[in-house]
Amino acid sequence: MANVVVVGAQWGDEGKGKIVDWLSERADVIARFQGGHNAGHTLVIGETVYKLSLLPSGIVRPGKLAVIGNGVVLDPWALFSEIDKLAGQGVQIGTDNLMIAENTPLILPLHQDLDRLREEAAGKAKIGTTGRGIGPAYEDKVGRRTIRVADLGDEETLDARLDRLLAHHDPLRAGLGATPIDRAELRAKLLEIAPKLLPYAQPVWRIMADARKAGKRILFEGAQGSLLDIDFGTYPYVTSSTTMSGMAASGTGLGPGAIGFVLGIVKAYTTRVGEGPFPTELHDADGQRLGERGHEFGTVTGRKRRCGWFDAVLVRQTCAISGVNGIALTKLDVLDGFKTLRICTGYEIDGTHYDYLPTAAALQAKVTPVYEEMPGWSESTAGARSWADLPAEAIKYVRRIEELIQCPVALLSTSPERDDTILVTDPFAD
Ligand code: IMP
Repeated sequence: MANVVVVGAQWGDEGKGKIVDWLSERADVIARFQGGHNAGHTLVIGETVYKLSLLPSGIVRPGKLAVIGNGVVLDPWALFSEIDKLAGQGVQIGTDNLMIAENTPLILPLHQDLDRLREEAAGKAKIGTTGRGIGPAYEDKVGRRTIRVADLGDEETLDARLDRLLAHHDPLRAGLGATPIDRAELRAKLLEIAPKLLPYAQPVWRIMADARKAGKRILFEGAQGSLLDIDFGTYPYVTSSTTMSGMAASGTGLGPGAIGFVLGIVKAYTTRVGEGPFPTELHDADGQRLGERGHEFGTVTGRKRRCGWFDAVLVRQTCAISGVNGIALTKLDVLDGFKTLRICTGYEIDGTHYDYLPTAAALQAKVTPVYEEMPGWSESTAGARSWADLPAEAIKYVRRIEELIQCPVALLSTSPERDDTILVTDPFAD
């Protein structure tokens, strides 16, 4: 049985939500395996727009099991506010269609404080985080002082966890000029949310193993993008989780052999939110046009996204690292009407040609993109549902991208609408 992992192959915001929603029709289990409510996945289904941050996109389809794996960092208050919002849109969420790994670390208000305090203290050197407390929560996880979902079930355990956590945070806060944590208030807040959260807690590793044995189809929903990966992204301007496909296994507790197909989501141009290197960034009218036509504003923070030409070097790199079997190319219609398009095929740094982005920050700062030009098209590609609906120049552009990134197109998405999708290779096929 081919289980599918969906990952963003750029800096996030590639349009994963729509593709995951589209694929989830044929999946039984949809699992988040990293990140938290820093993600913003938009689903457009008929007249209704759903905006998800923490819940797996499959939750909007009746009869599917949505799973939050241990690789996620979970803000329980954000979770229930999202559940309430979706309930208002008619989506029923309960313990029969949502399960949360009992070993999932929690994001607490103190993590959001620290995220904000650090960003403020960094001034110009800030990362440009979403302010959701993601980085500090992952730090506590690997620092072995986090509070996990299961810890909420026993007051003695919770007290021991709080002691360890606050012994770390109070001095840190003092150094940043903040007041100590009100332990009693935090403890009370946690004990108040515990009876709501604990019914969802499950040994997710076992549910995944059973699903696999029963021949169920599992769809792993990645968040953010490969260039924000903690190891392979543009460090330190990255998020704090592993955003590559390998995390699907350890972030839910299923062996890597269960992954059949890795689908990389790729936008037909490039965007980025937050600080950090961006070799093909445009500061001219073309960049503005991409932002306007593509509605490039962050779903979570509303920030304007930086826009630029398609960077084949970076996508080739991330597809190799995640072992991408095929890509879903999105937002091709945003390029409609450009006279000429540019694709970055390599970099020049100090007179040397590179076919990858070197890790050293000093080299990254001196990157000059090498471009290839292609003719654009004047026709609309929006809503196309077959190759025959696409102008010849658009097909040439897509084919050139495939060649340069050394990976075939499996799906082409031509609008935010669920059905405006051209299927080339079925990721779920055995
Ligand atoms: P954090 O994940 O909030 O720590 O933010 C770290 C970096 O990742 C910042 O540049 C954010 O803008 C970026 N980021 C985090 N989540 C997303 C996302 O879902 N889409 C795009 N960028 C994101």
